[in-house]
Amino acid sequence: MKRTELFTKTSKTTPASEVAKNAQLLIRAGYVHKETAGVYAYLPLGLRVLEKIKGIVREEMDAIGGQEVLMTTLQPRDVWEKTNRWDDAVVDNWFKTKLKNGTELGVGLTHEEPIVDALTPYVDSYKDLPLYIYQIGTKFRNELRAKSGILRGREFVMKDMYSFARTQTEHTELYEKAATAYTKVYERVGIGAETYRAAADGGYFTDKYSDEYQMLSDIGEDTVLHVPETDLWYNEEIAPSKAPKIITHESEQPMEMVEGRGLIGVEPLAKFLKIPVEKTTKTMLYETDGGKIVAAAVRGGYEINEIKLRKILNVKTLKLADEATVRRVTGAEIGYAGLLNLSKEVRVIIDESCASRTNFEMGSNQTNTHTINVNWGRDLPLPKEFYDIKMARPNDIHPDSGKVYKAHRSIEVGNIFSLESKYSDALDLYYVDENGERQSIIMGCYGIGVSRIMGAIVEKFADAKGLIWPENIAPFKVYLINVGTDENVVKITTKLYLDLSKMGIEVLWDDRDVHPGEKFADADLLGIPHRVVVSPKTIQNDMVEYKARTSDQATVLTMAELCKKVSCI
Ligand code: ATP
Ligand code: MG
Repeated sequence: MKRTELFTKTSKTTPASEVAKNAQLLIRAGYVHKETAGVYAYLPLGLRVLEKIKGIVREEMDAIGGQEVLMTTLQPRDVWEKTNRWDDAVVDNWFKTKLKNGTELGVGLTHEEPIVDALTPYVDSYKDLPLYIYQIGTKFRNELRAKSGILRGREFVMKDMYSFARTQTEHTELYEKAATAYTKVYERVGIGAETYRAAADGGYFTDKYSDEYQMLSDIGEDTVLHVPETDLWYNEEIAPSKAPKIITHESEQPMEMVEGRGLIGVEPLAKFLKIPVEKTTKTMLYETDGGKIVAAAVRGGYEINEIKLRKILNVKTLKLADEATVRRVTGAEIGYAGLLNLSKEVRVIIDESCASRTNFEMGSNQTNTHTINVNWGRDLPLPKEFYDIKMARPNDIHPDSGKVYKAHRSIEVGNIFSLESKYSDALDLYYVDENGERQSIIMGCYGIGVSRIMGAIVEKFADAKGLIWPENIAPFKVYLINVGTDENVVKITTKLYLDLSKMGIEVLWDDRDVHPGEKFADADLLGIPHRVVVSPKTIQNDMVEYKARTSDQATVLTMAELCKKVSCI
């Protein structure tokens, strides 16, 4: 393609409304057009990148036997009600719309329910399974914050695949096969070296963990914890953790009540009591299934991890107890809860970080009062069991290996889940086995953020001069520049353009009548992997100048050398 035929132009100014590097560069380079926050249109160059990522994803899903479909954006309410996912209180990022007659419709944010529903006329026998069904399409999510450019769109492109298996064993095979395909996708799009499979929360419908694919990046919104020298990675939201031990040789001091008004949070409390934060205790009261009350305690400096707590309690609902409940079980206002003199109806779950302490602080269950010098066995019975209910912190210990975690920021570029049979059962999709018995279908689902990968790649590789695309997803392979309009230069450039194109190499020829400096700057900004320059000087020796986008060094090549180089890459 010739630059003079491309309607987009580049810009030197950074769009004022964008804070994310990916959006700034993609807009400046004319790859995307911003409609509104989190909503971007893909222009010719941007679309070429997106389509290449889609192409790689499609090939890998096809390679494991995936069948492609295209589900609808408009979603009828009833299918989602069957799984209790219509209610905004359950799924909080729905976009919803209405027909003229007032009927409510959802705007597709994921497609488990409609996919299962679409299979019901076709799948009823063990002979119909197993299956992988996938689509690549636009998802809509009413994201609270959309400041990260195409990393977090309110409208974005996802590949979502769903697997349907007859048994758990078959499901595990499908799951692992899909995981291998995912690894290939990340390698092929150019982020294999920085993308890791990390254990993460399993979401609403399963007690199992899911696996996220996390690309390490300082601008990422997620934190993953790595166990050094292993391939164990965890999203911090579920990472099992042991707190570093507190070594103390103090003798037990008499327990004491201290008045302290309006001290919210462990930091001000520690300061006021003149004790280290880790001597304080954070106790939170929760209400769970059937109105049962739970007190969860972690050592000061940690937060309670509700995912872990929910798993230990084996409950579906877990919400902070309201003020009246707190008053009833503690006798105090919110903020003074502790484990001393707590109502018997409360189940207590104590994190292991609280264990190895002497003379610690504890809420008194009396308004404006705190207790210090509390000790296990003397003031509080030593619990039969300590649990792990805390949000892991970077210097925590991985319990199984005893190694200290290393924390990294990361971008979630994919997520795969085991769904059990919750969706299939709820939507009445069963199969009849060899013995004529009706059986549940075990599902998995597998998402890849296609447009997010594009943004993540910009963030990862771009430099001060502009975008840098990995070879496989670049919109064009070669950026061809003619310097000046000398007849011979143009003739040779035209021939090179045609020859390379004939070889199947995608060339963007900057044939504009502009200063060479402008062309060089655009070559860098657009991020096309190989720059080839034809100038009055190079043609004297029948040569061209070649430079990789990632290199500062230009070299001079013969035409034959160039063709060899670009066709081999
Ligand atoms: P996040 O935690 O980032 O909001 P999610 O866990 O809700 O994402 P999934 O439902 O797991 O997202 O979706 C599958 C994949 O789709 C994600 O791994 C991510 O790569 C991508 N994705 C999710 N939300 C967005 C979004 N708003 N914009 C772009 N890509 C997204
Ligand atoms: Mg996810």
